[in-house]
Amino acid sequence: MENNEKYYCPHCKSELKKWLCPPESSWGVEFQYVCFNDDCNYYVSGWEWMKVQYSVKASYRHRFNPFNLEMGPLPVWSENAHKNQIVEPFNQNQQEKIENMNLVNKLV
Ligand SMILES: [Zn+2]
Repeated sequence: MENNEKYYCPHCKSELKKWLCPPESSWGVEFQYVCFNDDCNYYVSGWEWMKVQYSVKASYRHRFNPFNLEMGPLPVWSENAHKNQIVEPFNQNQQEKIENMNLVNKLV
C-alpha cells in the first residue's frame, strides 16, 4: 500500500483523508480513507436521517477500505469525531504521534 495513493468521495468529490482506525474497531485494518468534508451531502443529510430513523444526534461519513475495496458509513457523533485520527499527508511524524497518543490512552 503506497502512502501517496489518492481516493475521492463519490458524494462530494473531495479527496479522502487517510484515517487511522481506532484500536478497538472491528475492521481489522490499520487505516482506511474517510471523507472529512463537513459540507459533504452524505454527511450533512446523515444528521437528518439518523434523527428521523433513530432519534439520535449522529451522522456518518463516507468510508473506504482500501484493503478489500469496501465502502460504507463511518458513524460520527459530532463534527470533530474521529478527526484526531486523520493522518495528514507529507507528515510522517503524525502517525507516530497518534500511535504514541493511543499508547498513552491505554496506559492511563
Ligand atoms: Zn464526501
